[in-house]
Amino acid sequence: MLKLDGVTVRFGERAALDAVDLEVAEHETVCVLGPSGSGKSTLLRVVAGLQPVDAGRVLLGGADQGGVPVHRRGVGLMFQDHQLFPQRDVAGNVSFGLRMRGVPRARQAERVEELLELVGLPGAGRRAVGALSGGEQQRVALARALAPSPRLLMLDEPLGQLDRTLRERLVVELRALFGRLGTTVLAVTHDQGEAFALADRVVVMRDGHIAQTGTPLEVWQRPASEFVARFLGFEN
Ligand code: ATP
Ligand code: MG
Repeated sequence: MLKLDGVTVRFGERAALDAVDLEVAEHETVCVLGPSGSGKSTLLRVVAGLQPVDAGRVLLGGADQGGVPVHRRGVGLMFQDHQLFPQRDVAGNVSFGLRMRGVPRARQAERVEELLELVGLPGAGRRAVGALSGGEQQRVALARALAPSPRLLMLDEPLGQLDRTLRERLVVELRALFGRLGTTVLAVTHDQGEAFALADRVVVMRDGHIAQTGTPLEVWQRPASEFVARFLGFEN
């Protein structure tokens, strides 16, 4: 459903992505792991249409996305610092993408309630986002990203701000949620525990390249290089 074909992005001398090939199948959850600066966020931004490429192609559902603007790609994006709109209540945040697409008001309200139930915050529409806990805010951000029913949901460190206990609980909930919705997910994380719990397949990045891809078990049992082994925390 998603295909990257030789995608290269340069910032000056440096290639943030260097001829990256990647495929994500329908309903698959893929987690991108890798050290800081390895190109994870750039990868998501390219797929979303927020970052132009210097070479290569991005295809969604077989269609070349070259020149297709962000709002026409049918992707949902959730950033690490989820950037909720503080002056709007929960419903105002969740309905953002629906307003952008001109969905009628009555339908918006229905959809918002549906989504809040989905993320475990039923009836929270009128609450001020500033009065929510970090975990609740993450759920609101997730509901907002899911609102327009994206064909591909991309999460950049979705649980980055949360403490370990909450992360572990939310990872389990997210996995169940994506399974239920049949969402195709491409998620970035620093945390290999999170990636291994969430992913059907992991992609380990290094300096703009894909160092290895495989199921969590494959990568864990047979790291393809010393870099991957080290990154996963093996001494040798
Ligand atoms: P982190 O884990 O810290 O979020 P990352 O893997 O997401 O890192 P990217 O943000 O994709 O890394 O950045 C990859 C490389 O590209 C880095 O060297 C970064 O400094 C560089 N880079 C990213 N965005 C820009 C930009 N807008 N201008 C110049 N360089 C950039
Ligand atoms: Mg990043």
